[in-house]
Amino acid sequence: MAHYQVICLSCQAVQDEAAMTSPAVGCTRCGGPLGFHYDYQDVRWDGRFGRTMWRYWRLLPVPDPTQLVTLGEGGTPLLPSRMLTGARVYLKDETRNPTGSHKDRPLSVAINHARRMGATASFVVSTGSTGISNAALAACAGLKSVVLMTQGTPAARVYPMYALGSQVVEVEGAIDDLIEQVIQLCRRHGLYLSSTSRASNPYQAEGNKTIAYELVEELGRAPDWVVVPVGGGGTLAGLLRGFQDLQRLGHVERLPRLVGVVPRDYNALEVAFQRGLTRWEEVLALPYHDCPPSILVKLAHSYPPDGMEALEAVRACGGWFLSVTDEEALAAQEACGRQEGLYVEPSTGAALAGAARLLQGGEVRPEETVVVLVSGSGFRENFVTMERRPLEKRTTTVQKLETVLLAMA
Ligand SMILES: [Zn+2]
Repeated sequence: MAHYQVICLSCQAVQDEAAMTSPAVGCTRCGGPLGFHYDYQDVRWDGRFGRTMWRYWRLLPVPDPTQLVTLGEGGTPLLPSRMLTGARVYLKDETRNPTGSHKDRPLSVAINHARRMGATASFVVSTGSTGISNAALAACAGLKSVVLMTQGTPAARVYPMYALGSQVVEVEGAIDDLIEQVIQLCRRHGLYLSSTSRASNPYQAEGNKTIAYELVEELGRAPDWVVVPVGGGGTLAGLLRGFQDLQRLGHVERLPRLVGVVPRDYNALEVAFQRGLTRWEEVLALPYHDCPPSILVKLAHSYPPDGMEALEAVRACGGWFLSVTDEEALAAQEACGRQEGLYVEPSTGAALAGAARLLQGGEVRPEETVVVLVSGSGFRENFVTMERRPLEKRTTTVQKLETVLLAMA
C-alpha cells in the first residue's frame, strides 16, 4: 500500500490517483482543492538519498523512490547571521539549490509526478524561479518544458529558462487571465501543469515541507520564528505543514511562529490579517487591482493564489504578516552581500528587511531562535540590482597602481 493518499481538502473524499489526467484537476466529487494524507506509522528518513530532500520521501507523494529523477535538491546550509542581531538568527541558504532557489524543491516533486503520469511536457506560467526550476528539472527528466508569460517580460529574466531548453511563449493579456486560462486548458486536455499554486498542482506544494524537516534536523528542535518572503503563499503554507508533520510525529513540541513578508504595495495579506478577514471573497474586494510596479516581482501578487492557505497558516501558529518597501529590500540585499557574504535576490532582501523589523519590534526574546528563508540567489537577477545600484569602479594606470593598491588595503 502506498504511504499516502490524495484527498479533497473540502469534502475529504479520497481520489483515485491513477485516474487523474492532470495535476490541475480538482476533487472528482466537489471540485475542491486536493491535498495528501500520509501514513505516519512508518516514517523514517532514508539515508540512500544523502543530504538531499529526497531522504524525506515517506512524507512526499512519491510511491517509488528508486525511480526518482533529481539534481540534488535540498540539504542546504543553515548559517548564523552576522547582520541580524538581537536573538539567535540563522539564514536558511536556499540559494544552494541546483538552480539557486527554493523552488527546486516543489518543482522536483512536480516533475517526478509528471514523469510518473507519462507526461511529455511540463507547462508553467512564470517569469521567475519556477520557470528556471521547471526547465532544469524537466531537462534532467527528459521532458519538454514550456514557460508562459505575459508580454514585456525582460529577456534577461527569461534567458536562463531558454538556456535550459525551455520553449518560451509570450501571451498578450493580463496575468490573472493567463493563469486561469492555462489551468482550464491543462484540465481540459490532460496537460501537465507545474505552476506553484495548489489549483495548478497540489503535488509541488508538498516539496516546501522539506525545508521544515531540514531546519528541525539541523537545530535539534523547531526554531521559535521563521521569516518567509511571501509571493503566492504556497511556500509559507508548505513550511507550516512540514512543522505540523513533525509535531504529529513527536519530533517538535510546538510550532514556530511564521512571519510572512510582502511588498508594501502588494500587502493584501497583511491587511487581510489585520482586519481578521476569513473569506477569500473579502480579500478579493481589497483594492489591489492597479498596484505600482515593484522590483520584488517574485512577491508582487495583487491577490496571491495560495493566499488563503498562507493566512490560515499564519493564524494557526501565532504569526503575522508585515510589509517592506523596495528600498528597504534593496538595502538589506546589499547589507547581506557585504556582511554575510551571500549575494541574494531582491525578494530575499525583503525577507531580511522584514526580519530586522521583527527583531527590533520587541516580540522576539534574545534566547529565541529566528530563521530567515534566503529564498534565491542574486546571480540570476543581476540586471535588476545593477539598474538600481550601478557598478562603482576606479580607473587607474599601471604606473599609479602601487599608490592605488596601498590606499585600498
Ligand atoms: Zn471534494
